[in-house]
Amino acid sequence: MGIQYLYPEFEVHRNFDRCIKCRVCERQCSEQVHYYDEEDDIMRADESKCVDCQRCVTMCPTRALKIVKTENTFRPNENWHQNTIEEIYRQATTGGALLSSMGNPKDYPSYWDRILLNASQVTNPSIDPLREPMETRVFLGKKPHDLEFDSHGELISKLPPQIELEVPVMFSAMSFGAISENAHKSLARAATACGTCYNTGEGGLNKSLYPYGPNTIVQVASGRFGVHEDYLKAGCAIEIKMGQGAKPGIGGHLPGRKIGPKVAETRMIPEGSDAISPAPHHDIYSIEDLRQLVYSLKEATNYEKPVIVKIAAVHNVAAIASGIARSGADIIAIDGFRGGTGAAPTRIRDNVGIPIELALAAVDQRLRDEKIRNDISIVVGGSIRSSADVVKAIALGADACYIGTAALIALGCHLCRQCSRGLCNWGIATQREDLCRRLNPDIGTEHLVNLLTAWNNEIKEMMGGMGINSIEALRGNRLMLRGVGMTEKELEILGIKHAGE
Ligand code: SF4
Ligand code: SF4
Repeated sequence: MGIQYLYPEFEVHRNFDRCIKCRVCERQCSEQVHYYDEEDDIMRADESKCVDCQRCVTMCPTRALKIVKTENTFRPNENWHQNTIEEIYRQATTGGALLSSMGNPKDYPSYWDRILLNASQVTNPSIDPLREPMETRVFLGKKPHDLEFDSHGELISKLPPQIELEVPVMFSAMSFGAISENAHKSLARAATACGTCYNTGEGGLNKSLYPYGPNTIVQVASGRFGVHEDYLKAGCAIEIKMGQGAKPGIGGHLPGRKIGPKVAETRMIPEGSDAISPAPHHDIYSIEDLRQLVYSLKEATNYEKPVIVKIAAVHNVAAIASGIARSGADIIAIDGFRGGTGAAPTRIRDNVGIPIELALAAVDQRLRDEKIRNDISIVVGGSIRSSADVVKAIALGADACYIGTAALIALGCHLCRQCSRGLCNWGIATQREDLCRRLNPDIGTEHLVNLLTAWNNEIKEMMGGMGINSIEALRGNRLMLRGVGMTEKELEILGIKHAGE
């Protein structure tokens, strides 16, 4: 056996005065780090396997455990960082492409953190959301240019199909297979309780979740897994996935070990087989081709459901969005380069795409310039971490936001970024039955509902502070935003002034 160059990334610190040898940590760790040494009557750990998911730390009844990032370092080198060297060791050992889960963790600028919100002072007074009505309901879909009413003031015009949301936040696409049934169930129930939507992702929709259809966006991706007539009709909207922020330009791969009987049945593929989604849709090579799919899906659902086209935020995103708006789609979803994923090649995740803030501002401006902004709604995702990010996104031009990682964190995810291995100790990104049982869907639902309720209240608070009482009046209202620490070019693309101006 050759020399193992990689030193464990984490150390397990066990306080032996507190450890009662109950072996809870051993049972809780799916990575098999902890074990009981009978000879010495002591708990030990194989630190090389630890992924810092914090499960054992949380479950230890005596708080005897701590996971610490190792202080062991290579000789500092500004060009060859430790992580870079370790990745080369890993590739030299395996010969494989590096795989990662969750979003891009690199130190690129977060524009949300460089944008500040306005607040009313003397004129245009602020509004107290506890005492006055505050509208956070949004409708996603095409808005007609003219409306006709009869002599009684009743609307005659037939409105294009809309998604009605009580809160401008939806749960983004995460497939059954990538995440567990209990995670899907929690998202479906919480979306229903909050009057918003969750998204099947590309894994189809299990029959047990059909009752949540009015709050379900059903996705059609390049692999077309689980797509059939009943599926399309079950949801309130259909999303064509052309791209994803974490892996623009490439397809997906769900390993066979995650394809158990239920996932196989839902996806309509054999149990244990790898589910590979091609990089492109093999029937889409132009906006005209996309238009055909948009209208095929509308035709299949009696023109009753809005069609969303989801793309990754990439260099020429504004031009692409303009084409999508002309394809007949009702909503465009743009996923930024920090968007999460169950699995993506590390190099793609960390180096391809652009920040969602810049993509959103560019798309909104382009659609306004071309006078087609009302022909399509904009939903953005890929690094929405708080209600403040939502408010900033809407002021930059979005109609609503998608959250994925934040929703998983509400379910207990500790961002260990090992989803692709299917051993998620929190019962989220796994299909192993014993691990799935760790996520109680009742508690999961409650946490998600709490999160959205808290965010909605905070959104109202921030809107009230600006003297705005409806999302409609906030959308694209860039005067409410100021930048700090940005270049002229960045401010120009975002279409906002610098703080102090
Ligand atoms: S992988 Fe998770 S449960 Fe296992 S030792 Fe590390 S932190 Fe604890
Ligand atoms: S979902 Fe599970 S495996 Fe994935 S990052 Fe979160 S805790 Fe880790």
